[in-house]
Amino acid sequence: MTINIILLGPPGAGKGTQARKLEEERGLVQLSTGDMLRAARSSGTEMGRRVAEVMDRGELVTDEIVIGLIREKLAEGGNGFIFDGFPRTLAQADALGALLDETGMTLDAVIEMQVDDAALVRRITGRFTCGNCGEVYHDETKPTAKPGVCDACGSTDLGRRADDNEDSLKTRLLEYYKKTSPLIGYYYAKGKLAPVDGLAAMDEVGAQIAAALNGK
Ligand code: AMP
Repeated sequence: MTINIILLGPPGAGKGTQARKLEEERGLVQLSTGDMLRAARSSGTEMGRRVAEVMDRGELVTDEIVIGLIREKLAEGGNGFIFDGFPRTLAQADALGALLDETGMTLDAVIEMQVDDAALVRRITGRFTCGNCGEVYHDETKPTAKPGVCDACGSTDLGRRADDNEDSLKTRLLEYYKKTSPLIGYYYAKGKLAPVDGLAAMDEVGAQIAAALNGK
């Protein structure tokens, strides 16, 4: 059975990690607006240049841009999507609902990944990623087996995100509480919300998500 789900939670809650796991285990497709925007900025397009500064400050880019990115992806067709980092505002949530309706798709669940702020700071400031395959590491909790070499693909292209520092993180958290956290109530009211403990071990979080999706 094909499903479409949203992973909702503050920066560092583990959305990307769980999205990759769901891709592997259920054959779903991860749609991360953060990844799309990072790709746009490194491709040097006009849009990329415009969003780079906003992202580095930790602010949200405009609804128009991210809704446009998602609209393009959904127009390519397919089914079985994990929305990771989208929607982040009520306007984006309404736009997603309309896009899904237009394409005859349903939203099956919104997984709310609950974590506390102190844990987010620890997680984000130690985070680094493989530029080749996207595997996510952490200085303390998940270092690479060989320093500087990705365990998953052997690449040495390991790097930190420009916005993974304490200053940007403060802004990203404020943006989350001001603009994104109202989506918790929004999706609760629509009967879609499924909270999981984002601070549990990676496999335990995966098991809680699987339980929430049980039968879907
Ligand atoms: P992420 O990789 O999801 O943490 O996103 C990194 C940054 O990209 C965010 O801090 C925002 O600047 C921008 N961004 C990603 N997704 C969205 C979105 N749905 N709406 C607005 N800005 C976004």
